[in-house]
Amino acid sequence: MGNLTGKTALVTGASRGMGRATAERLAADGALVAVHYGSSAEAAAEVVAGIEKDGGRAFAVGAELGTPGDVHELFLALEAGLKERTGETELNILVNNAGVMGGVKAEDTTPEEFDRIFAVNAKAPFFVIQRALADMPDGGRIVNISSGLTRFANPDEIAYAMSKGAVEQLALHFAKLLGPRGITVNSVAPGITRNGNPLFDIPEAVEAMSALSAFNRVGEPQDVADVVAFLVSDDARWVTGSFVDASGGTLLG
Ligand code: NDP
Repeated sequence: MGNLTGKTALVTGASRGMGRATAERLAADGALVAVHYGSSAEAAAEVVAGIEKDGGRAFAVGAELGTPGDVHELFLALEAGLKERTGETELNILVNNAGVMGGVKAEDTTPEEFDRIFAVNAKAPFFVIQRALADMPDGGRIVNISSGLTRFANPDEIAYAMSKGAVEQLALHFAKLLGPRGITVNSVAPGITRNGNPLFDIPEAVEAMSALSAFNRVGEPQDVADVVAFLVSDDARWVTGSFVDASGGTLLG
């Protein structure tokens, strides 16, 4: 029996990358996990199948964040899935992980691109938290995935870094608001972490990215998932409103 047995969790953007690794880790720890995806239904179904094969419990929920009605759609699917499996809609753990990078230089960023980055990365997590609170009992856990780029300059990702700076405000203020209910809210800031980006297939690029970390390697999705797993566990009950650097020492300079 894992330390999250009897708990329910929603991980946004869990069809790939760190979200996937986090969903798998929380399920391995015993939680019933809602594996959220935007457009990759097939990938999310594979994550669910993998979790079930390993003896865990999960179901997929789809909703394109950053579009009108996104949070409503997400919670319709989430609550239906929870009700079917547990008889109620209680949600103990929320991990706001879904996010999009910009990849556009400051001088080329359009207002539409800027709005999209903020809609997915900052606005959606706010309203997901707001809506989740109706289902979250005392003692719940909220983790928001930020980025080391809130502390490390990258002129190609100014709008993205701004959106992640906004995400970090969620932990500070919601932590204070929700402390009386024993709900913790924290930010985790990954550094460069392997995902499906083709950059990770180019050895020279991986070498250059590795050099940014004190450990001279890029992060693996599990490196971040393990940090999230700690923050949502009972062991982290005294940690709230914090910024947790999970960048492999990238922020040491
Ligand atoms: P990936 O790019 O591998 O996957 C992104 C996930 O988010 C997918 O599951 C995707 O679902 C989902 N997603 C993206 N946009 C939307 C949307 N509009 N609506 C719904 N779901 C969406 O993610 P990473 O593992 O690279 O990153 C995870 C988090 O960590 C992000 O918040 C990212 O900003 C942050 N981060 C990443 C770093 C890195 O180096 N990888 C470094 C620092 C922070 P689908 O495919 O179904 O659309």
